[in-house]
Amino acid sequence: MNKQKVISIVLPAYNEGSNVNVVYEHLVEVFEKLPYELQILYVNDGSKDDTLDFLRALAAKDSRVDYLSFSRNFGHQAAVKAGYYYAVGDAVISMDCDMQHPPRMLPELLAKWEEGYEVVYTIREQDKRLGWFKRTSSSTFYRVVNALSDVKIEDGAADFRLLDRKVANVVATLSEDDPFLRGMIKWVGFKQYAIPYRPDERVAGESKYTLSKMFKLAIAGVTSFSVRPLHLAIWIGGIVTFLSLLLVPYVIWSFFTDHVAAGWSSMMLAIGFLGGVQLLVLGVVGLYIGKIFMQTKQRPVFIVSEMSKNNVGGI
Ligand code: UDP
Ligand code: MG
Repeated sequence: MNKQKVISIVLPAYNEGSNVNVVYEHLVEVFEKLPYELQILYVNDGSKDDTLDFLRALAAKDSRVDYLSFSRNFGHQAAVKAGYYYAVGDAVISMDCDMQHPPRMLPELLAKWEEGYEVVYTIREQDKRLGWFKRTSSSTFYRVVNALSDVKIEDGAADFRLLDRKVANVVATLSEDDPFLRGMIKWVGFKQYAIPYRPDERVAGESKYTLSKMFKLAIAGVTSFSVRPLHLAIWIGGIVTFLSLLLVPYVIWSFFTDHVAAGWSSMMLAIGFLGGVQLLVLGVVGLYIGKIFMQTKQRPVFIVSEMSKNNVGGI
């Protein structure tokens, strides 16, 4: 008995109506030459376009295709996490549903898995075609996340990766609100291997990662893995206290030399400065309290409203 291994491809899709079929065709073509059974699992993340119609049609036509559909937009990270939970494969590969993560690289990822690596992830090489803003914002993202958190993530680490079934199970059941998968997957350990790649162009539509979504991801990246910003807050508090102590001799001197009324500007400066620092530090503390608050509610990271019936699993 030589049962073929099943490989699941997880594709989070938010308004990707015009890409669903293109990605499907490329995946099927790549797997024709591979000795695996294929499951393609789309996760419709509350799309407002015709994505879900395309998914229903595909799943009816080809039993290798499955889909989950969220009750609203829960975000890319939640969609990938849901994929890890419901996919049935011995290995689960997540990729963008826009052809930016080239399907031609799949044999390479799978070969590393067969060698015994349990996590095979990819690192995006710097690419001029990506545009100045995307490149700068992305490298700033990694610099900030790495400087402030305890888990180190390579610049350009992408959500294009293969997880062995047992790693997918662990990641899918981590009950973290606001998941930051790149960090979580580094954190879980296992045998990991990184492959560099050049992203292709998006076939249709535009990036769904708006500036505010990117900002949210950066905050999740830092606050999920470190309390270093809180330590930073203590440092800022200490330094400012020390600086204000330096003002004491000047205040005493002014008092005895009748310069008291003339101190208005320095006082305004000090009040403004201290007020700003206090609000900043309070904000950092608030960020963590907010995180505790959200986590105590134990709400699910996503809600599925509809799914296909071909091969969806669920651990
Ligand atoms: N995506 C999603 N939910 C969102 C935003 C994005 O499921 O709220 C999906 C999107 O459809 C795509 C993948 O996540 O398949 C990555 O997004 P995108 O390609 O827009 O990001 P970029 O590659 O530009 O960083
Ligand atoms: Mg993309």
